[in-house]
Amino acid sequence: MTSSAENPLADFLAYTLAGTRPASPEAAHGECAGGVRWQWLDEGVLELEPARVDATTRSVLLSAGVHGDETAPIELLSQLVADIAAGRAPLACRVLAVLGNAAAMRAGERYLDDDLNRLFGGRHARVPASREAPRAVALEAAAQRFFAKAPSAADAPFARWHLDMHTAIRASAFEQFALLPHTGEPPARAMLEWLADARIAAVLIHTEKGATLSSFTAETCGALACTLELGKVRPFGENDLSRFAGADAAVRRLVAGEASLPKGAQMPRIFTVIGQITKQSDALKLNVAADVPNFTPFQRGEVLAEDGAYRYVVQHDEERIVFPNPGVKPGLRAGLLVVDTTRETLAALV
Ligand SMILES: [Zn+2]
Repeated sequence: MTSSAENPLADFLAYTLAGTRPASPEAAHGECAGGVRWQWLDEGVLELEPARVDATTRSVLLSAGVHGDETAPIELLSQLVADIAAGRAPLACRVLAVLGNAAAMRAGERYLDDDLNRLFGGRHARVPASREAPRAVALEAAAQRFFAKAPSAADAPFARWHLDMHTAIRASAFEQFALLPHTGEPPARAMLEWLADARIAAVLIHTEKGATLSSFTAETCGALACTLELGKVRPFGENDLSRFAGADAAVRRLVAGEASLPKGAQMPRIFTVIGQITKQSDALKLNVAADVPNFTPFQRGEVLAEDGAYRYVVQHDEERIVFPNPGVKPGLRAGLLVVDTTRETLAALV
């Protein structure tokens, strides 16, 4: 086996952290175990293609490190690339492996100037001086080029997938959960069954467009897309990867083309966004603990936020808070409120 200095596959993470680039155009692509073809496309962007590709072959974008300090999924993705290259993990899909914010990964930071996962869908144009802006442009282009070669939804439904893997900053009542971008359609059964296979306990469905990478691939590339929150952040090498085994195994089954969802697997609970706390001014007072876990429930009538004349009062029998953050700038979202819609959502699956 060649060293990581010559070939990005054996240790994609180390290759990327070192800022290594292929020495020549010929060195940027090749073939590995099982006839899998690979091509290094950009820093942290690697395409893998199985020996046989036909009109129905799935295309799966796997991204990690869009937040540079969310190390466990980065390590899992790098290991998956190494296992495909060595023939230890079977590949039946086209895969685009993306280590999102390589500069922030190197710095051990979430981001350098701006949260990369708020800059997609063209929002990078609002912060042209940001060190994250050119990376958002590059990742949008890479995703579009990758999916442009995938079959259309008419020819092969659910042949385009994007799993964006993260770890959360705060504790959560559901340790592992997924965020589905707003698409205007009910969620796909294929995605929810995959999430069940990955042992994801809860799913949050957005009801407005976002500026995340998964929103971009869902809207612009027609991908079945989700953002996965797989537990809490730790430094490289200090992650207990066994806690991510469920998601890792399900990713491997997906790219191997294996059927997922063993019989009796529990579908995740599903929550839909019904409101938000909007910061009016720096006087905002959140009436929840600073470290309140995501998905903590509150009961009708409870006042969750006060800011001058503005109050957020729980209107439903039960609402749960997600991503509370009073530190945002005035005018921005200081927390989301969700309600349980498991029964109606599962009844409406397509
Ligand atoms: Zn993240």
